[in-house]
Parts: sequence; structure tokens; C-alpha cells
Amino acid sequence: MRIGFIGLGRMGLSLARSLVGKGEQVWVFDLNEEVAKRLQAEGAHMSADVADLCRNADIVFTMLPGPRQVKEVALGSGGILENLAPGAIYIDMSTVDVDTVDALFQAFTAKGIVFGDAPVGRLAAHADKGESLFMLGIDARYLEKVEPVLYKMGTTVYHCGAAGHGTRTKLINNMMVLCYCQINSEALVLAQSLGLDLNNTFNVLTSTTASNGQLKEKWPNKVLKGDLSPGFDLALGYKDISLASNAGASSRVALPVCDTTRNIFRMALAAGKAGQDTSSLTDFWAEINDCPKPRLG
Ligand code: NAD
Repeated sequence: MRIGFIGLGRMGLSLARSLVGKGEQVWVFDLNEEVAKRLQAEGAHMSADVADLCRNADIVFTMLPGPRQVKEVALGSGGILENLAPGAIYIDMSTVDVDTVDALFQAFTAKGIVFGDAPVGRLAAHADKGESLFMLGIDARYLEKVEPVLYKMGTTVYHCGAAGHGTRTKLINNMMVLCYCQINSEALVLAQSLGLDLNNTFNVLTSTTASNGQLKEKWPNKVLKGDLSPGFDLALGYKDISLASNAGASSRVALPVCDTTRNIFRMALAAGKAGQDTSSLTDFWAEINDCPKPRLG
């Protein structure tokens, strides 16, 4: 299949690179031409714009920051809906809200284009190694075509149901991921303030039922060694926890921990933490409590 890939940021670049590395014919586009050129040097074809990319593609993927960019690229003037041929497949992998993904499904289905959503689980570091997990929502008739392409970018595909169910699953997944960011931050700042040896504390917390994937896999490689560069940008984390909070509000489900964590992310953004990894919430928590920043020795 001829593959189109739009959005070559922290995640999209790694995912598209996996496809290129496995010998697939991939046409790429990003507003940032530099990053598209890097992939071109590795064997991808560079498209001039979205319309150009769609002309060459049997299947198109988007990996964009959020609902606004996805709607613009998919439904806007010169976008995917206007330019992709009926019978082709469009899969959005970005993290968006339920209304956006349902609107995409309706618009693309009406034109005879197969639509699915496949938001991505696990860390950016996993995407770099081709070890991502995909939460796929699509009519089961198209699994045969879509799953093999996803397996070229990752190791695990869960079919979550019809189009839109990938996004619904992802919202719940990220609500838990992001609440753990705050739980980790409170626990580590308190540990440091109680005078504990942080290396010991870390070993205990990752060996008991207090353990969580964020603390175990991400924290020691990011904030706890002082690397604040984004795997998962705190601004995108705020977007995702807001999507979960809004989903709770619209389905009348109370989410007190989620909503509090959302507010703390908001405060961290106001304190200038956009552009840093979500784990830098721990530094923010140390700063506002006037405590030393927790670091492993
Ligand atoms: P990013 O900000 O690093 O990358 C987004 C890319 O989209 C950028 O290269 C940008 O230039 C491009 N872009 C924006 N608007 C565009 C447009 N109109 N046309 C073409 N390109 C455009 O973000 P990311 O970290 O790669 O995340 C992408 C999505 O994946 C988000 O929805 C995020 O929530 C989700 N996600 C992120 C992670 C993570 O750990 N970073 C993990 C899973 C899912």
C-alpha cells in the first residue's frame, strides 16, 4: 500500500520512520519542512501539501497535536476529505475528543472513505524503538488491511471496537497516566522533604503495589535525572487530561482526581512548563512547595 503520513513531531517522526525503515513507500508532510526533509533523506517521499500527499496514498495517517489541527487538516480547505479518493483509508492517530472523532467518521463515511482511529499508547521512547501500542477503532471488515501497517510501527494492536472507540479508550488511558504524574510528584517531593534516600524510596515504590508504569519506566529516565526535554509535552498532557475531564462532564460522571490534576497541570503551564516533559510536574511541585527538586543519585 502507498502510505501518506501527516504530522512528524515527537511521535509522528518515529512512527513514520519505522514504516520507511521497513521498506514501505511513504509520502510525508509536516508544516515543519526540515523534519520532512530528514525523513526524505532516509527514503520517504516528500509531499508539497496535504492534497499532493492524498493523491499518492491508499492509506493516510495523521499524528497531529490535537482536535483543532486534526479538523483543519482532515476537514478544512485543501484537506484530506477533499483530496482522498473514495475507497481509500484514513486513520487518525492523534489524541482528540469524542466529538471530533465522531464527526470525522461521519464526514469520511459519507464520501466512501474508510475511517478509523488508532491513538497511540506507551512512551515516546517506545515509539522510537517501534514498540508502540495502538488502540484501534474501525469496522472489523478493514482490520485485515489496517493491522499489518500498524504492526510495522509498533508491537501491539488492540481492536477496541468501531471507529471512535480507539479515542474513547485513549482518553481513559491518559486520564490514568496523567493522574499518576501528580501522584508521583506528591510522593517524591514528600519523600525528599522527609529526608529519605530517594534511590531507596524509588526502589521500594517500584517494587510494591504502589508501582506504576510512569514512575517505573519514565521518571528515572526523565525528571529524576534532570532531563526535562519532552517525550510527552506537558502542554499536550494538559490537553489530554482536559479531554478526559470534558468527557466526564458531558457524560455526567464525576472525576474529582482527574479535575484536580487538570488544574495542577494548568498551574504548571502558567508557571512556564510548556515545552517540558510531563514528568517535570515533579519539579513544579517541588518549586511551589519550596523543596529541593527530587533527583536520583
Ligand atoms: P508534537 O507537537 O511533537 O508534533 C506535532 C507535529 O504536527 C509537529 O511536527 C507539527 O509541525 C505538526 N503539525 C501541526 N499542525 C500541522 C498541520 N496543520 N499540518 C501538518 N503538520 C502539522 O506532538 P507529539 O508529541 O508528536 O504528539 C502528537 C499526538 O500524539 C498528540 O495528539 C499527542 O497527545 C499524542 N501522543 C503523544 C505521546 C507522547 O508521548 N509524545 C504519546 C502518545 C500520543
